[in-house]
Amino acid sequence: MDTSIAYDVVLLPDTDRAVAYRKRAADSGCSLMGVTVAAFGVWVRDLWELYGDGRTFVSRLEREALLRAACEGPAEGDCVDSENGKRAQRDGASGRCELAEGRIADGACALVGDSEAGALGLDRVAAACVAAGVGLPAFDAAVRDARQGVPAGAGALEGVTRAEVPVLRMIGEYLDRLAQLELIEPGQALALLPELLPQRPLRVLLEDAAPLTPGQEAFFSACPWMEVEVRAASGYQGPVRAPEGVRVRFAFPSGQYAWPALLADIVRDALGAAAGRGAAPAAVAVPVAAAGSAAGDDGASSCEDASGSADGYRDGRSAGAQAAAVVVAAKDPAVLFGRVAPALVRQGHVVALRGRRRFVDTSFGRAICSLRRFLDDGQVGGASHIEGYGDIAATDVERWDRADLADWALSPFSGMTKKAAFKLDADMRADRTARRSDLCARLRGDNPMFAAMERLALQLDAQAAAELEVAVRRMTNRSEAWRAEQLAALRALQRAADAAKLAGLGADAAFDQAKRLKVNVSRIVAPRGCDGAALGAPDVLMTDQSTAASLGSGSCKVLVAADLTSAAYPAADPEDASRVLLEHLGVERADSALARMRRAFFALEHAATDQLILERCLNDSSADPTYPCVVLEEFVDCYRDDPTATEDIDNPYSLPERLQDGMLLRGEDALCANDTLSDAPAPEAARIEPPLTGAVSSEARSLVVLPRVLQGGQVLDEPCLSPSQIESYLECPYKWFAQRRLRLDDLDEGFGPLEMGDFAHNALHSFYKHMSEDLGEAKVTPQLLAQARELMADVLARHKALQPHLRQSENRLIPTSQVEHRELAELERKLMDYLDFEAELLPTFAPKYLEYDVACGGAVDYAGHKLLGTADRIDVDGEGRCAIIDYKGSISGSYALGVREEGRLGKVQALIYAQVIRRTLGLEPVGALYVCYGRRKMISGAYDGRVIENAHLPNMRHKDCMCADRPFSDVLDETEEAVAAALERMLAGDIRPRPETPEACKWCPVSSCSERRG
Ligand code: SF4
Repeated sequence: MDTSIAYDVVLLPDTDRAVAYRKRAADSGCSLMGVTVAAFGVWVRDLWELYGDGRTFVSRLEREALLRAACEGPAEGDCVDSENGKRAQRDGASGRCELAEGRIADGACALVGDSEAGALGLDRVAAACVAAGVGLPAFDAAVRDARQGVPAGAGALEGVTRAEVPVLRMIGEYLDRLAQLELIEPGQALALLPELLPQRPLRVLLEDAAPLTPGQEAFFSACPWMEVEVRAASGYQGPVRAPEGVRVRFAFPSGQYAWPALLADIVRDALGAAAGRGAAPAAVAVPVAAAGSAAGDDGASSCEDASGSADGYRDGRSAGAQAAAVVVAAKDPAVLFGRVAPALVRQGHVVALRGRRRFVDTSFGRAICSLRRFLDDGQVGGASHIEGYGDIAATDVERWDRADLADWALSPFSGMTKKAAFKLDADMRADRTARRSDLCARLRGDNPMFAAMERLALQLDAQAAAELEVAVRRMTNRSEAWRAEQLAALRALQRAADAAKLAGLGADAAFDQAKRLKVNVSRIVAPRGCDGAALGAPDVLMTDQSTAASLGSGSCKVLVAADLTSAAYPAADPEDASRVLLEHLGVERADSALARMRRAFFALEHAATDQLILERCLNDSSADPTYPCVVLEEFVDCYRDDPTATEDIDNPYSLPERLQDGMLLRGEDALCANDTLSDAPAPEAARIEPPLTGAVSSEARSLVVLPRVLQGGQVLDEPCLSPSQIESYLECPYKWFAQRRLRLDDLDEGFGPLEMGDFAHNALHSFYKHMSEDLGEAKVTPQLLAQARELMADVLARHKALQPHLRQSENRLIPTSQVEHRELAELERKLMDYLDFEAELLPTFAPKYLEYDVACGGAVDYAGHKLLGTADRIDVDGEGRCAIIDYKGSISGSYALGVREEGRLGKVQALIYAQVIRRTLGLEPVGALYVCYGRRKMISGAYDGRVIENAHLPNMRHKDCMCADRPFSDVLDETEEAVAAALERMLAGDIRPRPETPEACKWCPVSSCSERRG
């Protein structure tokens, strides 16, 4: 740097560099008295404020909002005074619109990335064109001609396609609107300023400059009284060898698990063992005083820093950035900091972060976006076509997701304790009838935080934002840095809201914009007892490439350039519609992604005095191989004799042998070491034996079956089971254990086979009860079908009406969507159709016992143990013979007696009931039947072929179910014997996964089972 500045104005690409320039001048004793040092965009804004016509620069958010409004149609309810067409200032209560300040941030480009522009709508294409083209004669003429109806290809629209003309017309309307609002594009101001500026000599230096944009070129050409010197930023031709004395090393973690551990190793090695500032593990976190964005400012485009006004972020880079011993330039420094900083702090180092985080990744951003999704009525609209159901419109319940409210409730912005948040979640999930409006009313009533967030999320209410700001400031249990980050996010949303209001847009537009914003994040963490903020110079600074590049030559001992993959730093500029349109108008982009990368890499190379470490993860998060970014390849080529050769770099690292010296490698096999970021063996705190699987320990064996409370309050200590439990154990012991003992049930109230089955059982029970009570008939016959249908219709209507009044534990059936309503209607149809089948079933028998408690309130003996349960129905004939009927919604092959020929028991519930009935009621069982009321009416099970005629069991595979060669009672005894053996195994704690058929695994909740079949 010159010790005496020979310029009146020194312009730098962005504010970071301007601040660094001033600091270097101060350090070197160079006076800047009377010298303006600023980013180009800031300087132009200042000139416009002094010499302009009073209009204010439009911000990027405002530009995008106004263009979106132009795209969507005429603006309504915006901030324009209807009488004079001028922009009105509204006060806080009615929606504040204070847009006069900080309109153009100094190079703080707040968008997530330029690459997104390609995927965006017409308004975003127009916004990109406006930022780059407005103020240039060719562009302005094209806009004018498009508005005057000149056809594509004629006049100033030569080379413009028909599809592009509407975009130019829309830009024209936007510029008119801008004038109405007393706003101006920076490009327009740049074109007007030469006429307005006093023509006195001015020595201007563009230091560290990127190639001038067409707007800048035109401006300086129109100001001949300015003596302009451009000092191009170094490195634009490509990387060079690292400076003499700087050791170059390469680092290759093999994958994402090894990545943070290797970076921690590198930092630790670089810092050496010298850091001994106390070793208490806990750390303090405070925000680093930080400035705006590191994004470039080309002067013609207005950029906005999402965190510009947050306390603690207000102004200027701290000295801490300058003197960090190690600087790590990462693609996402906040993620790296989160993974690595705690381990480094434990070892006594002070670690700082300076980076940017997406609005939606901040705690506030996540909370408000979740709440908005929950509250937003329009998130699911229209009808969707579902195979078999036709066009289905979403119901109210489908328009909101319980998870969104739960996410908000679990955030620090709900004002709820964790316990209360989990309870709210559990209550919502257990109740399908929960209504959004009721939940809102309940939360509104007793949670002021919800009320404020709701007003902000739905109405962008400025008063609510103010209340939230106060609430954040009161969260003193959180670190100051965290609070600053949330305040920055809150203000980013407010700015997006203000821009949307200005354009007459609603909350949707504001949230769309806010979601693309990034906010500055800064932290400094230090070992306990060490005031990191007061230190000024952290041991390690983690930041992005652009910020690291702005630190200046020799600013650190070791520089680690991380994530040097082609995916993290693509060299190609996005080919989007705005670029094509600008090219058609002859507006070429002066700069390119590759040139920017080269300049940044050059600066990184020269930032270190001792070591330059270049890191590339060999595999990405999908375990696919990565490729070096272009500048890394170019840098490697600097050290090769023949850059066109391939043999010398044909290795996993793409490095010639001479650069492989001192390579830093780390694999992913050392899982614990990678996770703890330490190779030191972890001290053994406790030894835990692997849990016993497939068996219940001897101490817990007595709890395999819990004591039962019988009717009347009597507690039965001996093992007592139900036929369905036994059947489940026979199906697969481990599945039984998971379902019945661990109860791996879903928290959500369901609408599935369980609820449908209970509804059908209850309806059929009620139907037969009323058959005998109202019609005086026990059995449906062909003659009674008409009356039976009438009765069934009545029963179904009453049962449907009853469902919402049942307890959740009663498996009520509550449809909440159109699809579920149709499923319920289909079930009703099935039950109605079942009556025809019923009229043909067992005509010589009649239902006598319905939902019969086989143990009559107590417990009966079966297979050497106690048993209780309820048989769906028992049909009896005049000879004292009975058939046990179990209703099923569907039936598989396992229900037939014939499966015993395959060496398995199959389904046993009805057979168990039959044996118990034989003993308790003295009836002679001749059938244990499973009757399906589903779409295909059919029967399965076992029956005595010598007693029941095949014709009385329609839709049955008789040969699989009939027992004709031996007494039916033999089947019942044989079943009891097999069940007794199984119960012995159960009570001995044998719960090994042993599926009887692959079908058992189909709906099994044990997701990680080594025996899973099918
Ligand atoms: S997955 Fe299959 S084998 Fe495993 S527990 Fe479930 S049913 Fe048994």
